[in-house]
Amino acid sequence: MLTKDEAFRLTRFSFEDIADNASAIRDEYALHTITYSPKVFLPLTHLCQDTCSYCSFAKSPDSLESLFMTADQIREICTQGVENNCFEALFTLGEAPENRYEQASLWLRERGYSTTTDYLADMARLVITEFSLLPHVNPGAISGKEIRLLKEVSISQGMMLESIAGRLCEPGGPHFGSPDKTPARRLATIEAAGRAQVPFTTGLLVGIGDTRHERIEGLLALRDLNSTYGHIQEIIIQNFIPKPVTAMASTPECDHEEHLWTIAAARMIFENTTHIQAPPNLASSIPDLIRAGIDDFGGISTVTIDYVNPEKPWPHLKTLADQILEFGKKLKARAAIYPEFISKPGFLADHLRVFVNAVTNEKGYIINDPLKNNERNNVSATKQYKSIDLTEVAVEEEIPLLPLRQKRGSNFPVSKPRS
Ligand code: SF4
Repeated sequence: MLTKDEAFRLTRFSFEDIADNASAIRDEYALHTITYSPKVFLPLTHLCQDTCSYCSFAKSPDSLESLFMTADQIREICTQGVENNCFEALFTLGEAPENRYEQASLWLRERGYSTTTDYLADMARLVITEFSLLPHVNPGAISGKEIRLLKEVSISQGMMLESIAGRLCEPGGPHFGSPDKTPARRLATIEAAGRAQVPFTTGLLVGIGDTRHERIEGLLALRDLNSTYGHIQEIIIQNFIPKPVTAMASTPECDHEEHLWTIAAARMIFENTTHIQAPPNLASSIPDLIRAGIDDFGGISTVTIDYVNPEKPWPHLKTLADQILEFGKKLKARAAIYPEFISKPGFLADHLRVFVNAVTNEKGYIINDPLKNNERNNVSATKQYKSIDLTEVAVEEEIPLLPLRQKRGSNFPVSKPRS
């Protein structure tokens, strides 16, 4: 595994310099498989106490017909989800809106809830007990107590670190006015999830003013947490895309090379200790994501839009499968909890296991994969990536570099994915 010094030295290389190396590391264990999670997207509330400059998800109470999704609205979407072979219920929501808006606090109190997290827990319980959809919850920066509450009703949780650069929270920065986006608060939440043994999804948002050095710092901080707790099931490397009517509407979108470089760097830093994901609906080139070393596309829905990026439609599953087939890869459905975490002691509440077992096979993948009868997924070609030695790549200064592909023992949580 790369040392910290070696990881920072990656900043001197181009994406093309490290692409084959990143791919080769991914291929060592993911072999022919790139996963995705068939899901419904439930935007529980668009209210948020924060004010990130790039966000078009957060709305003011006056602009909303309903402050929170009601149980019946959730049931309506879940019904469609079940009919369309979705297995994940992704709850995405603003951060603790009751702290900012009296209307939100009143709405919750009138229904017997003191916090948004309490309401989220009840709605997660609803979708799993009434629909057998497996909840993945994204409530933002919350306490250890709240994380443990949600563990009882969900199979995984998530929150993007986004960036470890505290300077982005200063006046003029994208996270100014967003106390939940301070790196210390984000890292504390991710650590609390580790203590609670929650399969956790996190990652970086690339292109909001962050530097390569800061991205490496962020990835290393996440690697340290994962080394201690073994709970980070995937790292999302998301590219910033400006939204109209936001304060960053005229900021250029994330540079393609920088996005790909960050994916490849993440793969080389984490090797195969976690999954690396990039959202396919935000990508300008699916083949480039594969070359950069991803092994997962995240949640894809045939029922609901991406409410965070509503202008970006999900790719058609068969189109996606065909695109990755050219790389010898097969698209495979997973649950919102990755296969290796299903059997990892302490990471899945016992009373939820029956719901996971009902939809996954003995290898931990979705039984009724929406694509499983698609004969175009029969993989016959395998693209071989050669391992490269970056000691031979020219850098500005003479800095001794170890070969990046070092022999290592098995360090994947519990075991390799059972493919
Ligand atoms: S915390 Fe999330 S929902 Fe709230 S303003 Fe920031 S990006 Fe938007």
